[in-house]
Amino acid sequence: MIRMPFGVLFALLIGLSSYGNNSHEHFRSLFLAENFLALGDDLFSVPANEQTLTEAFGRYDQLLLMLRVNFGIPENKAHELVSEADFAKMTLHELCTRVPGDASANFKKLVTMSIPNKDVSNFEMRQIYVLQEDIRTIWLKNLSKDQLAKVYRNYFETDPAENWKEIHISLSAPYLTGEHRWRYELFLEIAQRKYQAKIKSFLSIHRDKIGQTPVIASELTAIDGIDLTASMFEDNKAKESSKLNTSKNAALEHIFDWASQNGKEIRIHAFEGANTGPFYDMLETVLSSYRRPVKIRIGHIGYLTKEWLERMKKNSFLNVTFDVNAASNYWLQSRKTADLIEIIKMIHHYGYSTHLGSDGRGILPKSSYLDQVRTLRTHGFKYMCHKFYLPK
Ligand SMILES: [Zn+2]
Repeated sequence: MIRMPFGVLFALLIGLSSYGNNSHEHFRSLFLAENFLALGDDLFSVPANEQTLTEAFGRYDQLLLMLRVNFGIPENKAHELVSEADFAKMTLHELCTRVPGDASANFKKLVTMSIPNKDVSNFEMRQIYVLQEDIRTIWLKNLSKDQLAKVYRNYFETDPAENWKEIHISLSAPYLTGEHRWRYELFLEIAQRKYQAKIKSFLSIHRDKIGQTPVIASELTAIDGIDLTASMFEDNKAKESSKLNTSKNAALEHIFDWASQNGKEIRIHAFEGANTGPFYDMLETVLSSYRRPVKIRIGHIGYLTKEWLERMKKNSFLNVTFDVNAASNYWLQSRKTADLIEIIKMIHHYGYSTHLGSDGRGILPKSSYLDQVRTLRTHGFKYMCHKFYLPK
């Protein structure tokens, strides 16, 4: 029998001939737990004052949630393991040592989503996801240059399906203009020079802060666009209203102008958990009235409707594409793959293209490019990807 690499076999099966990518990612969510574990004895070398439980979890009940869901430790036992008094002074390293099991394996549970049992609500999953992002941020912002390089290299070297051939990634301002800039530059250097990965970078701007971003720093000319983020909890209407009541259409138009004038792209985190609310009122106005050519990427399709597609189609100045993050929408928003497939078909019917993204490659199970194509196929949908890379 002729032995064929999995990727080639898979590509033949699905009849595609280009390469895979991750068109929707956030820097802190990209790395796999194993990439951090590759640090070996240095895994917990982050300064103790940076890795306190209060820094990582904020509140004691958030720690209890993490221990219950990801470690299977019920609340009464969790109290015995880590009291509120302990919480105020313990580090994550001490936590990983105190919780039963190997400390590295426990760290993995802190940064990667366990397959949840049915008692875990969707809202709790999202809360845990955010905690995991925060713990990852502590590591990424405190590891030394050599340690970071090891994490980065391990990411590129341990993924047999090379989901990283092209990554469209967003980062907060400190990674692009601030004190942590070298951490991203090191990533770029390793990704592009050593592994020939194509990286597109977006400055992430929290959705409720767009009104506070009147000037986009000149150092940002090298980025590919802006990512309006933070739609994960948008189904909580009351919270959305209070966050957005100070936002103005002009602030969003300003970002559109920046993109239009500089030939950049705007990734808009929308339709992840809702399609109405104050943010959508603003989006509707600007998408309908903007009169300069501008490249828009809609970050999610979970709650996209025909009405919104009609609206976008009517404005010929908009060049729109859509990110499909089926695994993320399944784990964090309970969106069924079958429903997402219908929405993908609807988008294609309107003549728009879609791209697969992980939106949490390192955190969410089955979120890689190949995993998602496979899941879509299992549901009877032959997703014709934009590009498909054949691993050597
Ligand atoms: Zn995202």
